[in-house]
Amino acid sequence: VLAVQANFYQVRLESNCDQEDVACYVSTLLCTRRSRLKKIGQRVMVGDRVVIEEPDWTGNRGAIAEVLPRKTQLDRPPVANAEQILLVFALAEPTLDAYQLSRFLVKAESTGFQVCLCLNKSDLVTPEEQQQWQQRLNAWGYQPIFISVYTNTGLAELSDRLNQKITVLAGLSGVGKSSLINQLAPEANLRVGEVTGKLGRGRHTTRHVELFELPQGGLLADTPGFNQPDLDCTPADLIHHFPEARQQLTVASCQFSDCLHRDEPNCAVQGDWERYDHYLGFLEEAIARQERLNQQA
Ligand code: GDP
Ligand code: ZN
Repeated sequence: VLAVQANFYQVRLESNCDQEDVACYVSTLLCTRRSRLKKIGQRVMVGDRVVIEEPDWTGNRGAIAEVLPRKTQLDRPPVANAEQILLVFALAEPTLDAYQLSRFLVKAESTGFQVCLCLNKSDLVTPEEQQQWQQRLNAWGYQPIFISVYTNTGLAELSDRLNQKITVLAGLSGVGKSSLINQLAPEANLRVGEVTGKLGRGRHTTRHVELFELPQGGLLADTPGFNQPDLDCTPADLIHHFPEARQQLTVASCQFSDCLHRDEPNCAVQGDWERYDHYLGFLEEAIARQERLNQQA
């Protein structure tokens, strides 16, 4: 399922026909959902693999009779079967803010998907600045891909990482996500906006999620829901969303099983990593959030 709009589903057919069949010439069908699925509350999401009944090849219509089991499911934004998050930030315009980047990374890690970090607008910084970010982010546990949509730098490497997977695109407005989609999936034709610092403009005002097909295989989900990430993990889980701390916990464990790695005795997490301050900041948020939830309960 490539797109969902109201009660219609745009479904791409698998290219599985080697005989002279009309289906070979039809690539997508506009489908409705069988009422039986509605009755059992079976939702159809972008990224779902479905069974279509009674295809009408001349009218390019069909009906979804069954949703195949999902490998993964993301609820905000609603995407099925995604395996990877592509987090896009810009090296400049807007200024790359480490704390904000950290927040997005933690949010991305909390999905449990593979996280691919991509830094755009490399044309706006010096090679030295780029290298500083590279070293810094390596220490955070990431191997960022540096790209410039303008100069077509790094896009081949990025395409390799997107091959054959469903990838969810995330990142602040203005970093170049629309430009990137247009470049990777030329049929998409998205409007490219200006950096205004205002949120909720343009295509991100719609709640609609769509999968873009990449020419070499693979699908990219554009995600209005990921613009302002609220961290929604528990205080205890938070540490596991920092790869550099996760690493420390694989070689040693804390004395207390409910350790929050602040100032507990015999804690296995050392405070000598750059993002430890980010961790403490997000931890306050996670604790406040949990207290709010406890009060509501
Ligand atoms: P989105 O809000 O993340 O979808 O970002 P857009 O694709 O709308 O791009 C925001 C602005 O950044 C536009 O003015 C683009 O022309 C510009 N932009 C996109 N990619 C690059 C790049 O590689 N280098 C530079 N210098 N500007 C870029
Ligand atoms: Zn600890």
